[in-house]
Amino acid sequence: MKKLIAAAAVAVAGFASAALAEGLTVGVSWSNFQEERWKTDEAAIKGALDAAGANYLSADAQSSSAKQLSDVESLIAQGVDALIILAQDSAAIGPAVEAAAAEGIPVVGYDRLIEDNRAFYLTFDNVEVGRMQARAVLAAAPKGRYVMIKGSPTDPNADFLRGGQQEVLQAAIDAGDITIVDEAYTDGWLPANAQRNMEQILTANDNGVDAVVASNDGTAGGVVAALTAQGMEGIPVSGQDGDHAALNRVALGTQTVSVWKDARELGKAAGEIAVALAENDGNMMSVDGASEWESPAGTKMTAKFLAPVPVTKDNLTAVTDAGWIAQDKLCQGV
Ligand code: BGC
Repeated sequence: MKKLIAAAAVAVAGFASAALAEGLTVGVSWSNFQEERWKTDEAAIKGALDAAGANYLSADAQSSSAKQLSDVESLIAQGVDALIILAQDSAAIGPAVEAAAAEGIPVVGYDRLIEDNRAFYLTFDNVEVGRMQARAVLAAAPKGRYVMIKGSPTDPNADFLRGGQQEVLQAAIDAGDITIVDEAYTDGWLPANAQRNMEQILTANDNGVDAVVASNDGTAGGVVAALTAQGMEGIPVSGQDGDHAALNRVALGTQTVSVWKDARELGKAAGEIAVALAENDGNMMSVDGASEWESPAGTKMTAKFLAPVPVTKDNLTAVTDAGWIAQDKLCQGV
């Protein structure tokens, strides 16, 4: 019914799109809302929906792919006009997209790839995030024994990041300057799992580790805790997200880089795209900045990528100037 009203309005010239979105509801399915960054993403999505006069509904799967499927079913049952899905498990989410497609509900695959070309893929360039992480660690530790702390094995971003990291490290590996002594996925991206993996790797290597390429700030926090317990804090460690705790570690020197992805931009884009797709019968190429993208598995997707920014001790002003974190929330002396 809402869609019919919207379609009728489109036929009348001169209607502003904000007016058209009035009464639309966008459902957001979060995978692991405990991660600091998603609160920022949520605020930005809500802001964009508010601006368009659309409503926000959400559910958090709490790291359970089974709960995420019932969350999406429930959002569909509540009558959403578009869905934004942060997938917990790229393989398990398939039936949710199927169910949405059966109801003609457009889907935005948010931040993480959903390997189904009926879902619009909106993310940052995750391979580039991985390159930026490795570049910063390599600059700080041009020689030595490396550990790779990867993301969740059910999140395609984990391997996109790892791929970008490898690209940057390969020449130093080939030259014999660095060695990857160990690597581990982090189930559910949970910091406690990263900490446990790092503790085990330190033990297995008699603490013979010179640098850690950790795939996000949460896992970096677990890594730094494990290093600190051995008096090894201060060796190069990477992360991403611009979490406030991580930016403080960067300021203090216990984390080398946090690749900052302005979640305010991604969330805003997602809200706007969800509304646009609901209004335009799911026409993905109508989205501003949309392009064709082929996944490593060969799925041709419509996608939009935003650009990440590496933040080290030398350019913390990038995040303070952007209003991401207040100067007084960063350690003194920065
Ligand atoms: C996101 C990261 C986030 C991680 C854990 C990834 O897919 O790209 O920004 O830190 O999931 O939630």
